[in-house]
Amino acid sequence: MPDTSPRPLEAQPCQSVCVWQPTGETWPGPDGGLRVFDCLGCGSEWVRTEAWTPIDAGGAVPQAVAQERARER
Ligand SMILES: [Zn+2]
Repeated sequence: MPDTSPRPLEAQPCQSVCVWQPTGETWPGPDGGLRVFDCLGCGSEWVRTEAWTPIDAGGAVPQAVAQERARER
């Protein structure tokens, strides 16, 4: 897909304090766009076109992240 990212994502090493949440920001993209998530713990950011998947401190993929991932084709 074409690179429509308006800016680089923050990428920090995630630690045991990671808590992911949607930022409310949406980037232009297919199927209604790319929801942007960020981590309250380390400040990393994620959209579903990234090769990796965020995991909370508990070791689980946050439900909102899983739902966004499921939209990917
Ligand atoms: Zn983190």
